[in-house]
Amino acid sequence: MSSDLHCCAVSGCADDVLMTRVHAAPERPSRTAFQRDRERIVQARAFRRLAGKTQVFTSRASDHFRSRLTHTIEVIQIARSVAEALGLNQDLAETLALVHDIGHPPFGHAGERALDECLKRHGLRFDHNLHALRIVEHFEQRYAAHRGLNLTLGVREGIIKHSRDYSAEQFPELSGYLLGLRPPLEAQIIDLADEIAYLTADLDDGVESGLLEIDHIRGHVDILAHCYAQVEWEHSGVEAKFLFNEALQLMQNVLTDDLIATTLKNAQAAGVNSLEQVRDHPARLAAFSAPAEAQRQQEKRYLYDTLYTCPALSREHEKAEQVVSELFDFWVSEPQELPSSYVEEIETEGLARVVADYIAGMTDSFILHQYAQIKRTIRR
Ligand code: MG
Repeated sequence: MSSDLHCCAVSGCADDVLMTRVHAAPERPSRTAFQRDRERIVQARAFRRLAGKTQVFTSRASDHFRSRLTHTIEVIQIARSVAEALGLNQDLAETLALVHDIGHPPFGHAGERALDECLKRHGLRFDHNLHALRIVEHFEQRYAAHRGLNLTLGVREGIIKHSRDYSAEQFPELSGYLLGLRPPLEAQIIDLADEIAYLTADLDDGVESGLLEIDHIRGHVDILAHCYAQVEWEHSGVEAKFLFNEALQLMQNVLTDDLIATTLKNAQAAGVNSLEQVRDHPARLAAFSAPAEAQRQQEKRYLYDTLYTCPALSREHEKAEQVVSELFDFWVSEPQELPSSYVEEIETEGLARVVADYIAGMTDSFILHQYAQIKRTIRR
């Protein structure tokens, strides 16, 4: 058994199938297939729109709150270092981190919930991973010969499977993505890198917003309390806000190191030595240890109870849900008011799905502008 998991990594010789594209594309000797996918995503319009989408805070009361774009960059950092430490394919891990939130609608999870509720009334659902696949396969138009970004199978599979499993019975349209098998480790680490990024960032932004207090966090979040005690001991007499920053960095490192060590241990214990064995293993191998997992869950509950559902954010969420829901109903009843490129899609996709696609692509500021304009039109 090697000291890392390079034998389980997606690489050219290990699994060429994952480098295949729907439309033939000439090789570029200077760049690997996943490096080319990374560039295709960076240049996508949907990627640029992440800068204008809420991560947690919709109001711009601070210039320092994370957007979906800056959150994405933080996930890339973590995913790359985990991939490097485990000997995985860093280009694939980076590309999957880059694209992991591209399917999120405006207004964060409140927008996603609202869009899902709207679609349920039409017998449909909204799922940001499946929407991300629609973006890269259909909505992005950069090539003369075909729609979509023509990404490799490995990246498209990772887009769908990085955070959950889909059953072949329920999602027959995804049958080309090896639904009965686990995704490669490069995809498995993305969801956990995402967790590490937001568990750190949401405490930081929560304190920045004034909705969380450092002492309160220390009293209720064990992992942060332990990290804070350690940095306090190392830097006595330093102001609390600097100690808090140090503690957040330490917490991110502790969780990242735990993910690396536990994933390696799981693979060794299972005797997994190849990508094929990663795929065939009954469970995902990328994981936190039991103590880190318990701390993760404790912090997540704290963030949910104290921050995500606090009155100030609940008011933002209600407003966001109202905007999404009213606009959805407006375009469903007045489809001629949709942009012509969306009207053309109604025949094949159905009206409700097309309206959801249009809304899901919007940034926070664009949807608020649309809302104000349509309210004015209705009043006339
Ligand atoms: Mg994310």
